[in-house]
Amino acid sequence: MTHVFDTDDLSSCIACGFCLPSCPTYRLTGDEASSPRGRIALMRAVEDGQIDLFDPAVLEQGSFCLGCRACEPVCPAGVPYGSLLEDLRDAQWRGRRRPLRIRPLLAFAVRPWLVRLAGRLRRHAGFTASGAAGSGTGTTLMLGCFERVLFPGVSRAAARTLPDVAVPSDQGCCGALHAHNGERELGERMARRLAERPGRIVSTAGGCSAHLAAVVGRDRVLDYSEALLQAGPLPAPVLVHGRPARIGLQDSCHLRNGLGVSEPPRRVVRALGEYVEVPGAADCCGAAGSYSLLRPHDSEQVLAPKMAELVRLELDFLVVVNPGCQRQLITAVRRAGLRTRVLHLAELVELAQKGSS
Ligand code: SF4
Ligand code: SF4
Repeated sequence: MTHVFDTDDLSSCIACGFCLPSCPTYRLTGDEASSPRGRIALMRAVEDGQIDLFDPAVLEQGSFCLGCRACEPVCPAGVPYGSLLEDLRDAQWRGRRRPLRIRPLLAFAVRPWLVRLAGRLRRHAGFTASGAAGSGTGTTLMLGCFERVLFPGVSRAAARTLPDVAVPSDQGCCGALHAHNGERELGERMARRLAERPGRIVSTAGGCSAHLAAVVGRDRVLDYSEALLQAGPLPAPVLVHGRPARIGLQDSCHLRNGLGVSEPPRRVVRALGEYVEVPGAADCCGAAGSYSLLRPHDSEQVLAPKMAELVRLELDFLVVVNPGCQRQLITAVRRAGLRTRVLHLAELVELAQKGSS
């Protein structure tokens, strides 16, 4: 018999089906197998030895699932689905079975020196050189491995808008990417190493916040929006052509479904312009960590209804709170020719502080 899953987690599902309407892959296919309940049934069959772990149906559902955890907050039995999915991928994607496209990303993120070097090559050095001294609040800003490379302006904006938070230059990656892509133990080790420095950790990436909190405790982790609200008054609204900017928000799945943080970023945006709730803002944008790399067609299908709303709303800004969403939505908005500017919440706050758009 194969022991892959935490059996308490697995047995907590009462098969009620309340989670089905919240699941993006079930909404795409209408097929029970691609619903949370269907996937849990497959996991039970694997655990009971009725079906092989590498059966094509189990492999397909392990990969097709976005890992968005939208099925968790609606579940009356509190099934920790995200943890079950990590168990599944840990077993299915181990070693040589790991998808080729994500191996370079994981190899990059596990090497702190490489992450730091890449950040410096993005002219980030002047910023990271502030070192670990900080202001004495005991709170540090996590720079994030891919954010540092893809969106260095986000960490810079977060540091400028939270001046009392220290920015250690010797930090590595939190391991979220590893935990979600078949290297659970390594991902947890990386989170513990990052948290060796005492005090709270502020993160600008929802996926990292949720992973860190799960490993080192919620009391150690602050989302950027929470830290900003604690820090004091917000700047005046951003104006576009003399009127308050029309601003929408895209939730981060893990921030909302894993950490329960959805209101703080909205409170910030409401203070900085005319807030427009994007229908389906809580639904996954299809980025989902490595998903858009591994399953680009499905990723686009998941994103399509959101893009239809964005075309209709004609926003000035669409705010994101996770770098994966930022990359996905910048690409899609550009491709659709929309005038909406996609930016991270920290960049919007920095813009408001400067007093212009
Ligand atoms: S995961 Fe939760 S909501 Fe979904 S079927 Fe199981 S118990 Fe019901
Ligand atoms: S994590 Fe997301 S895609 Fe996967 S089963 Fe849950 S709701 Fe569906």
